[in-house]
Amino acid sequence: MFELNYSKINAYLFCNYLYKFIYIDGNYTKHNRKTSFGLSIHKALKEFGTKRLGIDRLLNSYEENWCNYGYSNGQEMMDYYYKGVDILKKFYEYEIKKKSTILYCEDSFDIDIGEDFVLKGTVDRIDKNDDGSFNVIDYKLGLEENGEGLVKNNLQLSIYAFGVSKKYFVRVKNLKYYFVSNLKEVEAEYMGEENLLSFIKDCGKKMRDSVFEKKGRCSLCLAKDICQFSDFKYDKI
Ligand code: SF4
Repeated sequence: MFELNYSKINAYLFCNYLYKFIYIDGNYTKHNRKTSFGLSIHKALKEFGTKRLGIDRLLNSYEENWCNYGYSNGQEMMDYYYKGVDILKKFYEYEIKKKSTILYCEDSFDIDIGEDFVLKGTVDRIDKNDDGSFNVIDYKLGLEENGEGLVKNNLQLSIYAFGVSKKYFVRVKNLKYYFVSNLKEVEAEYMGEENLLSFIKDCGKKMRDSVFEKKGRCSLCLAKDICQFSDFKYDKI
């Protein structure tokens, strides 16, 4: 079966060659300070949700799971580290007041969607509402993003909502991006099962048939310095 997941589809949609670079040629993109910092925060939030940590253990977990790659120097790394401590303290206070019922963190699904495709995903967090329905939540760092209003036709959270609803046979009520640096929760719109499956199978067929015809913006790409199709080096001359 051909495996589909959000990261694969997103890479293909951004640039067909990025998908090829990572998923066919087996290369990987380097971490930068933003991805490394995001990983450190995500690991701490996973432990917070699964082990119901208090603030001291949450900060210990952050320290133990700290990823130190991608920073240009020690000072920059320490600045980010303390920024993370501040984010987690505020996040913890917010969560205590909110009294959410966290069911699962980094929960995976694996669903046969027909036509020889399997859809896989890992959801940052699943909360349960009083009426028994679920919310699917994706943590965003939100250092630069400025999430406002409803996110229309959202592919990532629609994939997660679909996967969770099939795995647990439940209704997913809310799809949310949770911006942890400014404690903003932004709702996203479910694409609907029919639209979602038709869209991802269409992408999946092109991936499976090795259709490479659309190129992304190299200047924004994590592979811009190592990809053979990059025109970023020419931009810099
Ligand atoms: S560097 Fe450019 S061509 Fe290469 S994967 Fe990135 S966007 Fe695509």
